[in-house]
Amino acid sequence: MLQQLCWLCPAALHSRKELKSHVGTEHQRLDIICPWCVEDVPTIMSRPYDLKRHVGRWHEAIADGLNQDIFTEAGAFYLALYPKDYSKVVKPLVFTTQAAKEAREAVKVWRETSQASKLK
Ligand SMILES: [Zn+2]
Ligand SMILES: [Zn+2]
Repeated sequence: MLQQLCWLCPAALHSRKELKSHVGTEHQRLDIICPWCVEDVPTIMSRPYDLKRHVGRWHEAIADGLNQDIFTEAGAFYLALYPKDYSKVVKPLVFTTQAAKEAREAVKVWRETSQASKLK
């Protein structure tokens, strides 16, 4: 069986799935931001499911109107802190889908209103 090599360290994993969790837990490269938090320090989550819970709790007013595909691994790509690394282990949701559009729009507003200068 083919080994999956980590591009960030010398580790070799046994499957894509293991590589994905390795990249997420060892390197935090699957982190995603909450674009609806406009504090100085960005709210960062490591799993789309955690973000979904966070949004339901803290941004209740907008949670209902959102396309729920944003909170899938594929959709959360558009909220990724390291999109390049993210897309190596998760296939992003198609650019033109409603969820992708909403996520990009939210991030755009967030960049304009929050202290997002630390992020590339
Ligand atoms: Zn690694
Ligand atoms: Zn938030």
